[in-house]
Amino acid sequence: MLSFWEQKELIHYDYIVVGSGITGLSTACVIKERKPNAHILVLERGLLPTGASTKNAGFACIGSLSEKVYDLALMGEEKLLQLIENRWIGLELLRKRLGDTAIDFQNNGGYELILSHESNLHLEQLSSMNDRLRQIFKQDVFKEDKSKIGTFGFNANKLQSMVVNSLEGQINTGKMMNALHQYASSLGIKIITGADVSVIEENDNYVLVHANSSYNNIAFKASKVAICTNAFTRKLFPHLEINPGRGQVLVTSPISDLKVKGIFSFDEGFYYFRNFENRIIFGGGRNLDFEKEATTSFETNEKIIAQLQQYLSEMIIPNYSYTIEQTWTGIMAFGPNKLPLLQSMSDRIAMGVRLNGMGVALGSKIAEDLADILLSDD
Ligand SMILES: Cc1cc2nc3c(=O)[nH]c(=O)nc-3n(C[C@H](O)[C@H](O)[C@H](O)COP(=O)(O)OP(=O)(O)OC[C@H]3O[C@@H](n4cnc5c(N)ncnc54)[C@H](O)[C@@H]3O)c2cc1C
Repeated sequence: MLSFWEQKELIHYDYIVVGSGITGLSTACVIKERKPNAHILVLERGLLPTGASTKNAGFACIGSLSEKVYDLALMGEEKLLQLIENRWIGLELLRKRLGDTAIDFQNNGGYELILSHESNLHLEQLSSMNDRLRQIFKQDVFKEDKSKIGTFGFNANKLQSMVVNSLEGQINTGKMMNALHQYASSLGIKIITGADVSVIEENDNYVLVHANSSYNNIAFKASKVAICTNAFTRKLFPHLEINPGRGQVLVTSPISDLKVKGIFSFDEGFYYFRNFENRIIFGGGRNLDFEKEATTSFETNEKIIAQLQQYLSEMIIPNYSYTIEQTWTGIMAFGPNKLPLLQSMSDRIAMGVRLNGMGVALGSKIAEDLADILLSDD
């Protein structure tokens, strides 16, 4: 039972945000930046954010050439360009809000590996894709450069070419989420962890957000609610088209004289690796086992980890000695196309979810758009 004090001071808010990943925390920050007197509560079910935002690879990217060619066929030019522009705007917002030092942003470039057995269909579309992207970036984004294969120490027998994107960079995901949390707290946003939201009830005057922990079940009250629960949203709204997709990741031990520097991907972005200091962080392979990876459970998939290890030893760092220090997983959200789900559910509830594998870039932009929806009639 709640005390008089709790009822009076700790339950009522102007805005409640459900989920403390990059989208949820950024949404809370945008609302507070625009309405400094608003009382805002973020409810997070985990002790730490427990989805994708603290578990990703930290690519500050707009996506590889082959990914763009695939997306063009999937969604057409207009939506493709809008999505790419939103990723770019999102990255700029993130960097501006937190600062490059705080998130350890490094502009080391992005590279796509074209494997020796792959067709060069994507390469044939490099120039037309550059023409399309010039509308946004006013310059050529993709450039083929075979010479880079040797620069990074890859096994040249496994690769036919590389495509360079000098706009892309990398961040330290842990530092970014720490900085975002600290920034939100410094604005006066209240964040409660271990609060699993089970039901959202709306009436004419407010929204009740029921949150459970092992100690309490509390119904918090707000004028408006933002849903930022990404892959876990169907627990609250089962009818929505949101499918979970697990990502497997590994990190190597420190490697002396490592030449790999930057963010790299291959196989239409299904595999991605980067250096973190003198280690390699390598993830992906969902396409090896789509069915098993369509889950919200955080288990390791040994088949995928074995494939990642094989690529490492045979193609990426063939001549180095290292061990695999750790593996982990994170959960992404996918839908029928690659577009996020940004919509109002009623006058008082709106959501920004389904960020695919792009949320480091997209999260801050979705937060702006979600705040626009929630604040539109205030
Ligand atoms: C392995 C991996 C690698 C990736 N690499 C990149 C990359 O390099 N670059 C890039 O741009 N993107 C990448 N992504 C994607 C990116 O991490 C996500 O798109 C982004 O983090 C999504 O942020 P979010 O805040 O919307 O969702 P999440 O980070 O999943 O946050 C949702 C939060 O809601 C909480 N929650 C859920 N349900 C409830 C509930 N009922 N009550 C309370 N809280 C709840 C969850 O615990 C979670 O903390 C990667 C993802 C993964 C998994």
